[in-house]
Order: sequence, then structure tokens, then C-alpha cells
Amino acid sequence: MSETRDVLVVSPARPHQMEKLAQDYNLHRYDKSDDRDALLAEVADKIRLVMTTAGVGMPTDLLGRLPNLEVIASFGVGYDSIDIPACTARGVKVTNTPDVLNDDVADTAIMLMLSTLRRLVVGDRWARSGNWSKNGAMPLTTTLHSKKVGIVGLGRIGKAIASRAEPFGVELGYFGRSRQNDISYQYFDDLIALATWADVLVVACPGGNATRDLINIDVLKALGATGYIVNIARGSVIDEPALITALQDGVVGGAGLDVFHNEPHMNPAFAALDNVVIYPHHASGTVETRDAMGQLVVDNLTAFFAGQPLITPVN
Ligand code: NAP
Repeated sequence: MSETRDVLVVSPARPHQMEKLAQDYNLHRYDKSDDRDALLAEVADKIRLVMTTAGVGMPTDLLGRLPNLEVIASFGVGYDSIDIPACTARGVKVTNTPDVLNDDVADTAIMLMLSTLRRLVVGDRWARSGNWSKNGAMPLTTTLHSKKVGIVGLGRIGKAIASRAEPFGVELGYFGRSRQNDISYQYFDDLIALATWADVLVVACPGGNATRDLINIDVLKALGATGYIVNIARGSVIDEPALITALQDGVVGGAGLDVFHNEPHMNPAFAALDNVVIYPHHASGTVETRDAMGQLVVDNLTAFFAGQPLITPVN
């Protein structure tokens, strides 16, 4: 086998895809290695492609240790865990897995929206605990119908969320860095104005430094005590200590959260709150979508080694 077909696996795709790749490529399992320094001493010079995932990303020190690196093929659409400017400066291309996860992530946003407003988890516990038979009906909840839904980041996933929300008879608005001329939803160039208008704020923009703590206490106050927030983007987009206090004090009505700071070590304060529905960063976590994401990683890798253009380059 030619030494140009060496792959450093920082974080793998799906097991059956890795088994198949292993038949055609030299996979160096950095992810499983007990002695990563020794592994790099042996293979660093021949590595032209790294496989990773959005959750693990690309450690900056590792980037500096792979002198012949050309491509980082990442599993996931978000690339906030990869230093894109540093990669670009080095001439390293990064690929991600857009679009194939839109449906499941948008479904998750709607699931969190409904389960938060209708208090699904509280209701489930109400019945299981015997409260229903002992104390009768659970307290009334609030409807999604006719609410105003504000989307922060109306991109591929944001649009898929909006099209799913439309049949509920909601009004839609969005915030982003620019107005999209082909979109009829109301555009807000100011996030506080969107939060003031909205009953439900859905966060669907990228993570990273540009959006860190974008949802701060002022945004939460503007959303208000009868407002709800749903986050399927990244934990970093919300000032989490501010959100926890806002949920505890009733500054906002509730939250449906797929993403958190310091995953998987979620702040335990969330678990004590009845007005929060928690999903453990699993918006794309179906067999079908994870297979499709892995396949796109494999397809980018295959294209690179075949000398073809990358399919989904980021930079
Ligand atoms: P996308 O198509 O690039 O859309 C991103 C949207 O965010 C765009 O509408 C963009 O509009 C807006 N945006 C970008 N930077 C912004 C900023 N600084 N302030 C406000 N808005 C900004 O991306 P996508 O495919 O929809 O994915 C969005 C994000 O969802 C990903 O980056 C990822 O972090 C997250 N995600 C999470 C999961 C999960 O499992 N929970 C799964 C998939 C994706 P403008 O350019 O007009 O600002």
C-alpha cells in the first residue's frame, strides 16, 4: 500500500465505516493509542489527512506536529472545535458534514419546543409517580399555536426548523448578521429586539468565539418570564450561569436544551429545574443520520486520496 494512504484517526466515523476504510487505508488510531507521542514519532511525517469529529475537534498542538497535513475531515457540521484560521494559514483544508443532519436536528428543536411548553417530562413524572391518581390533573401548560418564534441563525438548520414550525400557526422572525432577501419572515438586526418580540427563541447559529455568550442576561430578560428558549446550536452561545439563574428566578419561563457548557459534564443545576427539558447533545443522534454523516466523511476522504475536489470544504 502506498504511504500516501495513511490516515490519522483523532476521532472515528461509524464502526462499520471504519472497518471498511481499514481495508483500503492505513488507519493510525490516535484515538485509541496509549502512547500518542510514540505514534506521532512513527507516522507524523506521512500523515496528509486527519479524521475527527466536531465533538473532539483538532487539538492545536497536534496541528503543529503534522508537517505534511493537507486535510482534516470532520464528522459534524459545526467546526468551532477546529481552528479554521490556523488551518487556512497552514494551507490545510477542513471538511464537515452539512445538510445530511438538518432533518433530525430540526426535528429535535421542535421536540424540545413542544416538550418544554407542554411540560412533557413533568407530565411523565406526574403520571409515573402516582401524582395523577392521588392529586388529579397536572397544572395547565401553554400552547405553541399562534406563538411568535424567533430563530437566531436562519441557516440550513434554522430554515428546517422554521418550515416545521409554520404548520403550528406561529409567526416567525429571525436574527443573523444579514437580512436574507428571499425570506419572508420578519428580520431583526438586533437580538434584543427579536427576544422582546418572541415567545420562543430558538438558537441555531454556529458556536465559537464570534457567538460566545451571544444570549446574555439582557437577551434573557427581553425574552421574559413567559418566554422560552431552545438551544440546538452550541452551549457556548448562551451565558450558561446567567441562564441557570434566569430559570431559577423565573426571569424566563423555560428552556429546551440539547447543548451545554463543558459537555458531557453538564452543570447539575439544570437537573434540579422542572422548567428545563434536557437532551444530551443528541440532535443528530439517529442511526440513519449518523451513518449519513460518516459516509460524507468517507466520501471526502476518498475524494482527497483520488485527487478529486473535496465534497464539502469549509475553508
Ligand atoms: P449554517 O447553514 O452555516 O447557518 C448558520 C446561521 O447562523 C446562518 O444563518 C448565519 O447567518 C448565522 N450566523 C453565523 N454567524 C452568526 C453570528 N456571529 N451571529 C448571528 N448569527 C450568525 O449552519 P447550519 O448547518 O444551519 O448549522 C448551524 C449550527 O448548528 C452549527 O454550526 C452547529 O454548531 C449546530 N449544530 C448542532 C447540532 C447538535 O447536535 N445539537 C447538530 C448540527 C449542527 P448570517 O451569516 O446572516 O449571520
